[in-house]
Amino acid sequence: MRPDPVPGLARVVLASGNAGKLREFSALFAPLGIELIPQGQLGVPEADEPHCTFIENALEKARHASRLTGLPALADDSGLCVDALGGAPGVYSARYASLKGGEKSDAANNAMLVRELAGQPDRRACYVAVLALVRAADDPRPLVGEGAWYGEIVDIPRGDHGFGYDPHFHLPALGKTAAELAPADKNAVSHRAQALRELLAKLDRAAR
Ligand code: IMP
Repeated sequence: MRPDPVPGLARVVLASGNAGKLREFSALFAPLGIELIPQGQLGVPEADEPHCTFIENALEKARHASRLTGLPALADDSGLCVDALGGAPGVYSARYASLKGGEKSDAANNAMLVRELAGQPDRRACYVAVLALVRAADDPRPLVGEGAWYGEIVDIPRGDHGFGYDPHFHLPALGKTAAELAPADKNAVSHRAQALRELLAKLDRAAR
């Protein structure tokens, strides 16, 4: 356990209200001497996500939290990109069906995905996650980690774990959908795990 290895990063605002993310990220950042404080605890409202790329949205959220608190901030953005759909639903993954008048739910998003791919032989897709850490709102050199987890979309859902598109996201190398993986197995290889590893490696280098 090393205390505060990166000067100025002892306390970092997490630009998310998701309790699961706070738990997961806190456990991984604590050994680096970094305490994560959820933005809601500091009165920071959710930021807009107006951009068409994950990195821009992650930076927008991190800057917003940093600007309002005066602290360094960490944000993430993620989604599913399907080759045959030109990268959609992408940054709109959470709102895929609702943008076309449907419900804002995993079930509606999955039904929409299967409909959009009907008759399409190209099933390639990847989950993408981007993490951005800014030391200040105007940090000229944010630390960024990116992960991509490659698979293919199947019409018939399988598995009860995970969330979102997981029952339709098949990993040919494992012969399973993401929803058929035990949570610990998914968390070891997922897009978020990859993004986090990349960011932690950069933090570690910055600490030397
Ligand atoms: P956010 O980055 O937490 O806003 O997630 C954006 C959306 O992308 C989620 O609501 C899901 O629809 C999708 N998504 C991101 N990561 C995953 C995953 O690991 N499994 C399933 N869906 C995901």
